[in-house]
Amino acid sequence: MTEVLDRSVDEQREGVARISHWIGGRLVPGTSGRSGPVYNPAIGEQTGAVDLASVEEVDAAVAAAKEAFVSWRKVSLAKRAELMFNIRELVHERREEAARILTVEHGKVLSDALGEVTRGLEVIEFACGIPTLLKGEFSEQASTGIDVYSICQPLGVVAGITPFNFPAMVPMWMWAPAIACGNTFVLKPSEKDPSASPWTAELLKEAGLPDGVFNVVHGDKVAVDRVLEHPDISAVSFVGSTPIARYVYETGTKAGKRVQALGGAKNHMIVLPDADIDMAADAAVSAAYGSAGERCMAVSHVVAVGDVADGLVTAIKERLPKIKVGNGLEADVEMGPLVTREHRDKVASYLDKGREQGATLVADGRETAPEGKGFFLGVSLIDDVTPEMDVYKDEIFGPVLGVSRVGTYDEAVRLVNENPYGNGTAIFTRDGGVARQFQFDVQAGMVGVNVPIPVPVAYYSFGGWKASLFGDKHIYGPEGISFYTRGKVVTSRWPDPATSKVDLGFPRTR
Ligand code: NAD
Repeated sequence: MTEVLDRSVDEQREGVARISHWIGGRLVPGTSGRSGPVYNPAIGEQTGAVDLASVEEVDAAVAAAKEAFVSWRKVSLAKRAELMFNIRELVHERREEAARILTVEHGKVLSDALGEVTRGLEVIEFACGIPTLLKGEFSEQASTGIDVYSICQPLGVVAGITPFNFPAMVPMWMWAPAIACGNTFVLKPSEKDPSASPWTAELLKEAGLPDGVFNVVHGDKVAVDRVLEHPDISAVSFVGSTPIARYVYETGTKAGKRVQALGGAKNHMIVLPDADIDMAADAAVSAAYGSAGERCMAVSHVVAVGDVADGLVTAIKERLPKIKVGNGLEADVEMGPLVTREHRDKVASYLDKGREQGATLVADGRETAPEGKGFFLGVSLIDDVTPEMDVYKDEIFGPVLGVSRVGTYDEAVRLVNENPYGNGTAIFTRDGGVARQFQFDVQAGMVGVNVPIPVPVAYYSFGGWKASLFGDKHIYGPEGISFYTRGKVVTSRWPDPATSKVDLGFPRTR
């Protein structure tokens, strides 16, 4: 987590922007006396100080959401859908402004930041269909005079805790379906790049969302722990690293909450000997190094099967010098910095570790990182990686691509299936039968066939298996709607007017 600086809050804020909470429809400066630094990673300088919430501040946000729920759940489906359309229009109109906010705090290049907003927009667009998505079922005459029907109702106040790597899109995965379903929302975004969240809050207000339906509390473990124990929060969606996902799931469910907690990943891309090598190399390069490898669906490991390995590694290596690393605001830059200095150093430490443990360092990103104070690391490629090495076992979450060489398809699938993570995986082949067998065999939640990053479109749901997801509901899409609602089944009997003894006040016609 972001280290809380020793300096007083006022000192920290000198010359930097203060990033405050959003509670009950307005910006609320923090009162805890604690704040965390926010950097522009491309220049390596602190640009902001984010307020870190106390227990009382989380309580204030939950109280605002609880109060707003009383009237929000009564708003008609037609009005809620109209509001989602308004939100969609505004986000679309301002997507470039949003992308800029992401680039200067996260570091990803502008085109990638724009892609993030666009993928988030898809989820908002899905939520525009909320009247259809919340339709129940009806069984007439289940028994004589008895009808049975089901309805979906919102849960109440729900919370989202999100990671640094998609500061706009991952919250959209949560708040868009949650509020469309009639819930009110408390967001605890990453404290590393928090500015997208108050920006979103203002936009939602401008779109017409009533005050208190969407709230933001910035913070660290103090805020997260309060969210997990708060008696007025019904459900928690979490996206982040596996150890914290496990903690959030265990703590939240113990407190009686519904929890979906998406964790880390180690996504393997299998390349079979019959694959188109250029296509596979292009895919591996863009999926491994895009967003500096800070994507939970990044390809971080290539499994080269049989004699494809030499040609594939050469093809990947040839492409690396062409990747321009620099400030993501510059038009021709393809890869930006890592999010913090500490993270960059941790990622870089795997390069020596890999070599010491017997892997071959084909490209060393430390040698190609741009000069200056920015948190840069160039692209790295490590060949001959085996499962007991740290570069294989750990989620590095940076621009480091590992390669393992195996003899057969079965060995490749075993490697994927024995890995503790099961987020995404992909196979590159020209053989449809093998691809079909792969989708049957592989233990991962999202599978690509000649597609390196198989993030599901918004009308399917997103989620991994094994240590990549705790809980039984995937996020957004149909499972997102199911997560944010609970079912109620009504069994009703109305007396037959022909036989009823009740005076109806008008003649019986039957
Ligand atoms: P992180 O786990 O450090 O932080 C995620 C959230 O948890 C943040 O809001 C943070 O403030 C909070 N947090 C951190 N430490 C905590 C603690 N000790 N107690 C309570 N709360 C704590 O993750 P990150 O570094 O922000 O994001 C990167 C990770 O997220 C990677 O592991 C990546 O794979 C994962 N991720 C997964 C998905 C997915 O869909 N599975 C998507 C995006 C990111």
